[in-house]
Amino acid sequence: MKYTVKVDQASVCRNPDAGRQDYIEPSPYTTITLTYTSIVPVLPREIEGHIMSMSIDETGSYKITAVVESFDEKSMDLFKALGINDLSVNFYRPIQHIHSITPEPEFFATYEDTRVTCEFCKAEFGHTELEEDCVGVDDDGDDVWASRICPVCHTPECCELEFEKLW
Ligand SMILES: [Zn+2]
Repeated sequence: MKYTVKVDQASVCRNPDAGRQDYIEPSPYTTITLTYTSIVPVLPREIEGHIMSMSIDETGSYKITAVVESFDEKSMDLFKALGINDLSVNFYRPIQHIHSITPEPEFFATYEDTRVTCEFCKAEFGHTELEEDCVGVDDDGDDVWASRICPVCHTPECCELEFEKLW
């Protein structure tokens, strides 16, 4: 059985960014460079496990580069806590230009919760209760997904859905 999931008309609103495809935003990654000449026994946990390179030059100066996600300025305290006199810390968070292939939609909307019946166990529930799950890996190593899984008997593709289009 095929069900039509209708747009909730009350939820429709104009997208202020309609048609937009280009964005400029800070990268989620921050590159941290530490240079120092003393031996550092322990590095802050924030950067351990994220070290990209480590080197020592002819003057005996160490240089460590780490790339971390969601860097917080408060992490500076971690570096201060190392108590190294000649430690220099540099942060670099690049600005990235993102071009999206799909333009931003003209409107935003949500769908009405629609009652559906499982073709296999005949249970009735709202379409938002349908689940999807990764069921394995194909020959190319890509995940294989099962969709529209019945929340009661867990059979995939338990009904057909057609979503109403806004425009
Ligand atoms: Zn079922």
